[in-house]
Amino acid sequence: MLQKTIPYIILMAMALTPVISDSTSEPNSTKPDVTPIVDIIKENRTPAVDAFLENPLIKLQYGTQYSSQYYSNVARELASRYPEILSYKTIGSSHDGKDIYSLVMTSNVEESMDRDDFNTFRMHYLIEAGIHGRETVNPAVIIKQIEDYAADYYRDSHIADFKLKDILSESVFHFIPLVNPDGHDLAKFGPDSIKSNRYKNALSEIYDEDYSQWKANISGVDLNKNFPDYYLEDGMDEPTDKWQKYPGDLYSNRPDGEYYPGEYPGSEPETQALMEYMKSFDFRSYLSYHSRGDILYYEYLWYPDSYLENSLEAAKKAEEVTGYRLVPDTGVGSGYSTSYHVALSLKPSLTVETLSYYTELPSGNSTYLEAYEETWLLPLHIQKLGKETGYFPYRLYVDGRYVRDFPDETYAKAMANSLDGEIIEGSGIPGHIID
Ligand SMILES: [Zn+2]
Repeated sequence: MLQKTIPYIILMAMALTPVISDSTSEPNSTKPDVTPIVDIIKENRTPAVDAFLENPLIKLQYGTQYSSQYYSNVARELASRYPEILSYKTIGSSHDGKDIYSLVMTSNVEESMDRDDFNTFRMHYLIEAGIHGRETVNPAVIIKQIEDYAADYYRDSHIADFKLKDILSESVFHFIPLVNPDGHDLAKFGPDSIKSNRYKNALSEIYDEDYSQWKANISGVDLNKNFPDYYLEDGMDEPTDKWQKYPGDLYSNRPDGEYYPGEYPGSEPETQALMEYMKSFDFRSYLSYHSRGDILYYEYLWYPDSYLENSLEAAKKAEEVTGYRLVPDTGVGSGYSTSYHVALSLKPSLTVETLSYYTELPSGNSTYLEAYEETWLLPLHIQKLGKETGYFPYRLYVDGRYVRDFPDETYAKAMANSLDGEIIEGSGIPGHIID
């Protein structure tokens, strides 16, 4: 399988120069910037894999040069280097036609994904970054995590006591490194990064200054205000969408570099890609990487106690791992991706704000390594916790197929009402279909 991919890899290596013209010098150092503890065991490795392990694609010390195109090239090449455990999956397209993708990581990935019971076969975890343009370190952090986890899988080196071989045989990590590629490129490289003249011209009419502080997509919609905002109110039998009913102070009523929530919830292609993905799998938790503040937000709002307990436990674990400050989200503000995920699933959904509050954005090369070192093990700790927590008793089935589970019966029934499904109570691993 590896041999078959070599011509493609050569092509990719040629394409791996960052595409932005003022930053074309390809990093020439081959030294890995983060060296996991190495205790090399030569099993399951070919000379090709050995060569890949010696030549990591993401070099965090050059992070400021990387464009969204470079990241997607790297992501595709990682999937071709490590086809046993990584699969590149296009999940949407930005306004400017740039690929939005996930990297699915589990052992025997293609075979596993083809299974009819993939949703319950192993436990799923979602890690996402890059909703906001100027928060540029996080896509690199996520792709570097993937690269180092893959290296550990092949080296069997047990990074910080985690054994990736075992973890990937019982869980599936879904990484979405860059939800807003257009905003990322705009903040980092300016308007010349936009391919479509229509968008370039429209943008110059709504914003004519320096684009480095840009957070929105290139239609001027702040994607982290564009997600539906479901609540289950007392006495109601279904959750209702209260999008932007409580917008908070940070609000713009027209397209802008930040705070404009869009015309309606889920109006943007980038939002839609993430929403559809969240609905497609039974994620045990969700980590959303943003910058800045060295803060972890966890959602409490109005949710049932059984959720709060579980969420707080995950938040405390994340606090211990990263050293970041834990902040309960008051729920003032609307349209967050994390709120949407909590409402969908009642699972821990944390916002991880990398870098100190005083870091200037988009940040310099040294901050990539800083953000990485503080957070790269977080998905592994959260996976461990998810495994310990296990499945919840109230399982939602739609059209006879398992969708996800809930710790709260009232909430589970309301979700079943809204999706025309049914709740089946059970313990242990859920059956993927109703017998
Ligand atoms: Zn953000």
